[in-house]
Amino acid sequence: MATNRIPSPQTISSAVDDLRPALVAFLQELVRSPSLPNREGPVQEKIAAKLRALGLDVEMLTTRFDELAGHPAFDDDGFSPDSRVNVVARWPGSSRASGQGSLLLNGHVDVVSPGDAALWRDDPWSGVVRDGRLFGRGSCDMKAGVTAGIFAIETLRRIGYCPAHDLLISSVIGEESGGVGALTTIVHGVRADAVVVLEPTDGAICPVQAGALTFRLTVPGRAAHGALKSEGVSAIAAFLPLFQAIEELDRRRHRDYTNLIYPNPANVAPISIGTIRGGEWHSTVPESVVVEGRCGVFPGESPAEVRALLAKCVTEVVRADPWLVSHPPRLEWFEGQFESCATPVDHPLITALSAAHRQVHGVNPAMEGVPYGADLRLFVNHAGMAGVLYGPGDVRQAHAANESVGIEEVIAAVKTIAGMVVEWCGM
Ligand SMILES: [Zn+2]
Repeated sequence: MATNRIPSPQTISSAVDDLRPALVAFLQELVRSPSLPNREGPVQEKIAAKLRALGLDVEMLTTRFDELAGHPAFDDDGFSPDSRVNVVARWPGSSRASGQGSLLLNGHVDVVSPGDAALWRDDPWSGVVRDGRLFGRGSCDMKAGVTAGIFAIETLRRIGYCPAHDLLISSVIGEESGGVGALTTIVHGVRADAVVVLEPTDGAICPVQAGALTFRLTVPGRAAHGALKSEGVSAIAAFLPLFQAIEELDRRRHRDYTNLIYPNPANVAPISIGTIRGGEWHSTVPESVVVEGRCGVFPGESPAEVRALLAKCVTEVVRADPWLVSHPPRLEWFEGQFESCATPVDHPLITALSAAHRQVHGVNPAMEGVPYGADLRLFVNHAGMAGVLYGPGDVRQAHAANESVGIEEVIAAVKTIAGMVVEWCGM
């Protein structure tokens, strides 16, 4: 029954409350499916079945590396190139002149490893509910967000709402390892005027995200017996001035960068060295050090600019060092090369989402930039969509032992997203 009357916030709210038991059961079902990379198939089947049951047009898009290979944002994540599938469902709009445009709700179903099982109170795939929280790997990051999007649609269908513009939802794979799932949907032409990526932001609207580039620095030394130290050159000692210069570059970049949307201005897009491997034997002067790290990209910067800055920093140290000048270190960029992205804070998408949030919570949402990467950059930079991260759950729960999400937060997100859809897609 299409009533074609704007549903009131009260109507939406009580329809969501009616769905609470079904929502909890569905989220438990998703969490109980261990959707590690290459094992996302069963959870995607559950999601596709649910969306079909809601009457949406559902498409299954297989990720194929041969289709993505030529794309500038493609990173081979090392997992199966052709056994992973993405779900895209569409609720076609009526094309009435109302609202702002079409909307894509997006989430990922791949999860990171639970790590040491001994650190978990319950089985990592239990989906157990205790004290108003639902536990398990992927509960917060981000099956809660995917569930919130699906139940916002179910709510709107139940109360007889019909969008004027298309409403889409996509459930993708491969986000944690670089975004090949979201990229698959983009290459297949899935588009909307705006996207809400339902990552756990604790109810904050995040229109800006930093990027990150992975690098490797190989510093040469000259091996000698440790007892004849002066005949060798320690690669560890040669690396130290490089380490100090990189740390100073990171501090200087943050001092010179202003973006009021970041809660911690000293931690927007850090350069962080993650591994150091050097030396062969305790009594041998080390002949090489291999360092790997991540180099942050500020919103507004291109990866090429940042790569040039780090290269310049290394070159300056090399010029001042008698050993390095004749034995220069090698700087390589490998694996993830993730761009930053930004949607203007005064974009109508943010106005609409803020209004829907206020309606449910009684206060304005926080607005924040985030220092980590997510699929948002692909939609904004490579599909021309305005976009934000917004969803239930605290990102500190993501990837942690005993990961959990508060059920009330998920319910509030469903209400907000449903209200946002009405506001944005019109009727
Ligand atoms: Zn996530």
